[in-house]
This record gives sequence, C-alpha cells and structure tokens, in this order.
Amino acid sequence: MSLLDASTRLVRGGDVAGEPHGATSPPLYQTSTFRQSSATEFGAFDYTRTDNPTRQATEAVLADLEGGTSALCFASGMAAIAATLRLARPGERILCGRDLYGGTQRFAHTHLPGVDVEHVDLSSDADGRVPALEAALARGGVRLVFAETPSNPRLEIVDLRAIAAATRAADARLVVDGTAMTPWLQAPLELGADVVVHSATKGLAGHGDVTAGVVATCDDALRNELFARRNAEGSALAPFEAWLLLRGLRTLGVRVDHAQETAEAVACALAADGRVNRVLYPGLAAHPGAVVHASQTRPERERSGGVVISLELPSALAARRLVDGTRLFSTSVSFGGTASSISIPHFMSHASVPDGAAPRPDATLVRLSIGLEAARDLLADLDAALDPGGERHLEAGLIRPRAARR
Ligand SMILES: *Cc1c(COP(=O)(O)O)cnc(C)c1O
Repeated sequence: MSLLDASTRLVRGGDVAGEPHGATSPPLYQTSTFRQSSATEFGAFDYTRTDNPTRQATEAVLADLEGGTSALCFASGMAAIAATLRLARPGERILCGRDLYGGTQRFAHTHLPGVDVEHVDLSSDADGRVPALEAALARGGVRLVFAETPSNPRLEIVDLRAIAAATRAADARLVVDGTAMTPWLQAPLELGADVVVHSATKGLAGHGDVTAGVVATCDDALRNELFARRNAEGSALAPFEAWLLLRGLRTLGVRVDHAQETAEAVACALAADGRVNRVLYPGLAAHPGAVVHASQTRPERERSGGVVISLELPSALAARRLVDGTRLFSTSVSFGGTASSISIPHFMSHASVPDGAAPRPDATLVRLSIGLEAARDLLADLDAALDPGGERHLEAGLIRPRAARR
C-alpha cells in the first residue's frame, strides 16, 4: 500500500471492514450496538463507544498517512491531547514548548493534578543540541516532552530530530502536536516522535464542520493504553464525525496544496507591506528556523509553509482594525478550513491560557488562516482592511459590508 503516493492512498484507503456490497464510498455505521451471534460468541464489533467500522476505516487511513502502526480518533483535538498528556502520572513531569495552543496549556496546568508541567525553551544551538531541554531532562522524572512546530500562533520552529534524540536519551516520550502542518506536509513519527496528536477539526477534516482529534503512534503498548482509556471514558469520535473526517481526508492534498500556494502569495505581499511590522510564515526564507522547517517537512512537497500566517501589527488598535475591516475573512478561531479566517489569539484561541503558563501572545498579533478563495480576492480584502480609510474595495454586490453579514 505505501508504495503508492499519499494522494492515492488518501483517495483509495479506508475500506470498511466486511462491507459486503462493494460500496465505493465507505458506509456510515450509524449504530450504537452490533448484534452478536450468541451470548457467548462475539463478532468484531459490539458497541460503538469501543469500536466502530466507520471510525476504524478513518483510523486506518490516518495511521497509514502518519507512518504509524495505529491511529485512534477522539471527539476533539483536546480529547486526544488530554488522553495523551494523562499518560503522565502524579509525581512525573511534562516538559512543553513555550508557544503552545491555549487549550493544551489550560488542560496541562489545571487538569493534571500532581503532574509538574514546565515550559522550556526547545530551541537548538549551533551544534544542533537542545541545551535547555537537555538540562530540564537531566533533572529527571520526565515522562513526556510535548512540542508543536510550527507553533501556534507564533509559528516558531523547533528541530524535532534533535528533540527526539534528547527525549529518547532521557527515557521520556516525545509527543508532537502536528495540527499546523497535517501529515500531508510533515510526519513527526518519521522524525523520531513517539506520538503525534492532531486537532482533526482543522486541516484534516478541513471543512469547518467537524470537531475531531487523532492520536497516531508506532508504540502498540501505548496505543492499547489509550484505547482502553478512550473506551472507559467514552471519548471516541462518533461514527458520523468519523465519516465526515474520512470524506475530508480524501481531498487533504489538493486542499492543502492549493491553500498553501495562496498563503505564500499573501505572506509575500504582506512581508513587503509597510503597514505590517512583521510577517511570521514558515514558507518565507527569512522566517526564523525556515531551514530546519524545510528539512523536517516532506521532501516530495513543492511547498511546506502551511496555511497559517501570523502578523505583527504596529498597535493593538491596528490589529483590531484589520480584523474588523476584512470582509472575506471570517472572524473566528480555528484554521485549515475551506473558508479563510482571521483572529487575534490574545482575545480568542489563547484567552484561556492560565496564569503561570507561557506568556499569552500580544494583542498586536493577528492570525490568518488561508482557505480556498481566490488569492486576488483575499489580497484585495487585506489591502483594503489595512487601509485606515479603506472602504474602496466594496465592489458592488460582490463583497457585502460587514453589517449585512450574519
Ligand atoms: C485547535 C487546536 C487544538 C485543539 O483541538 P480541538 O479540536 O479544538 O479540541 C489543539 N492543538 C492545536 C495546535 C490546535 O490548533
């Protein structure tokens, strides 16, 4: 199977176990229970909280795409991340990067009693070592190291191979939140991570209509522990959501490739725009860590900057004006959907970051998610929104003023 290109595997994978009719689209097993042949002889499935053929088909596609031996789907990205972080027991330590999804920080700092959660600098030195991480690991007791690259929302890059080596040497496990890149662009398991987690709500499902999460790994014991916990807690992804996720995965490659090409055009245009102080986008050669980023994304992809761009505006007011002035970008959290969106993480996705966690991003930082609209329309919209007097782009009928939208 894996001799085929990922695009082929995404479209052709995901056969539903035992499907008898040759359905070309995987059937949705929207059922909570499965009839057994007797009270003592059981089939492959009995109860959807435990396992479901549609969910299993989605998990097979995800495991294959990640280069893992297994994948488990959860009700949301946070359910997947929570299950994974809870592999750490009271008395143990978790080391995570400094720029991290707000919900992950909230969970780690407030819902893991007895676990010591520390933010450390995961960056590398000139010799390719990760000195701050190595020093923190040397103090002992670390169960998990948790990293995002590019991170959310500052798109900071860390060297996963170096982090994996240091983590392994300390007998800890490396968990990578791969949401920003999706496995289309980056395969953390192949770079040495033990576990990759995703918010499939973002690019994997990709249409802004599902919340879902994934954990993929090559470690069968760890998978079995997570499977048992997911079954016990009932945090598995529901069959319809799994079906929607599988449907979204079919077009992952074309969606990401297309949106990314637009994102690159937007990032280049804004990098040359005096009204923006700084553009953070891993596809720009000037982005800190761009070389490391390119070295740990899939070599077969023409581009690997992703679809998220963060902008530093001159002031919090300018950031608010930009967000409120756009017409095509919806003001919403999340990213990786078909529709472009814009947000100020300080007030939105990262508002839940508790005190004592990593510092919240500044209110001058604006995050864009580029979708599948035409590049020229998005560029014109941003150009007008950055213009303090900018109402001039309201082409009659084409783009409606904000007041007319719901
Ligand atoms: C959105 C997001 C999550 C949380 O996922 P949900 O599906 O919203 O629960 C975790 N990590 C990252 C990087 C995210 O962007």
